[in-house]
Amino acid sequence: MTLDYHTNLSPDIVANASVITGYKTYPHVDMYEAGLLAGDILARSLRGAVRPVMAWGWLPLVSSVMRHAPEDGPSGDILAYARATEKSGRVLAATLLPGFPHADTPYTGVSAVVVADALADTAVSFKGARAAAQEVCERMLAIAWERRAEYVFHPEPLARSVARARALGTNAQPGPILLIDHCDNCGSGGAQDVMLVVEEILRQNLDDVAIAPIRDPQAVAQMVEAGIGNNVNLLLGGKTDMPAIGLAGRPLQLAGRVRNITDGEIVFAGPMYTGLKSHLGRTAVLDTGRAQIVVTERHHEPFDLVIFRHCGIEPTKKRYIMLKSRIHYRAGFKPIAAHIVECAGAGVTNADLSVYRYRKLARPIYPLDAIWKP
Ligand SMILES: [Zn+2]
Repeated sequence: MTLDYHTNLSPDIVANASVITGYKTYPHVDMYEAGLLAGDILARSLRGAVRPVMAWGWLPLVSSVMRHAPEDGPSGDILAYARATEKSGRVLAATLLPGFPHADTPYTGVSAVVVADALADTAVSFKGARAAAQEVCERMLAIAWERRAEYVFHPEPLARSVARARALGTNAQPGPILLIDHCDNCGSGGAQDVMLVVEEILRQNLDDVAIAPIRDPQAVAQMVEAGIGNNVNLLLGGKTDMPAIGLAGRPLQLAGRVRNITDGEIVFAGPMYTGLKSHLGRTAVLDTGRAQIVVTERHHEPFDLVIFRHCGIEPTKKRYIMLKSRIHYRAGFKPIAAHIVECAGAGVTNADLSVYRYRKLARPIYPLDAIWKP
């Protein structure tokens, strides 16, 4: 099987698989390669050319998704080591799984799983192959543990982030400033309708802003009813209560003009899911004067420029872009961005782990508890 990079690996998963591989990129742009690697090992094992054995390990370490990208935390060096061990033929597959901190499970944490070949010359035996897999796995996890402090995300107060973005936008430079509303990312279960960051952007009077996407089927219906070119007064977003983190939905009262309405059918042109179709549901653009807000019926994480272009907004021409995303936006938007400012709003993908009332999480666990040895 192939696993997502954010898997919390459990003993049952490993016990029920003969070969496990996973993504080595974040944003995930190597679905093809990860699938090919698993399929290739499986096909070769069916032909008797290899005999896969696995080793895996887990760390009492909840790592912030905001620190999972290879360029940000320890993951880059661990992935480079994993790739090198595969390339040298020492093991068949080496996979890092930084995990998913927003899931309350006993398996939540950083893990690694490695597949070696019992028929390889270097392994000599089943036992030798397992030892090779174990050694690579332990090395990967050792890097993660040694550098665990780098997996902790330190958010900046929202008003300060927006002010910083505003200041950056006053310089003449090509490309927009990205404001990343990372606490409400639907790709990880966010409601995609928390309005805190939008509210702060409007409060600080940022101009020439494009925002995507707010999920609000009611607001879309109102805008479709009003029709393109007409003015509307809306209670936008804030329709979802999040009792698990003690957050009540709070809509934002906004007046503006309906600038566009689409059927929300899009085809990805960027490096992630290239060529695939997706469906935003009916989509409407609310133009408040300073901001153009893409409002959708369905949840969708913005990782491709098509989210704006399909409804007539050219993102490269905007001064500011606000995205409800954490890391995947980088696939499409990092290449066009002049600067990136992470904005800590609110929602179920909050990087501040103290907002979660964990019950099943293994304890003690870093960084929630003082713990010095895995
Ligand atoms: Zn993932």
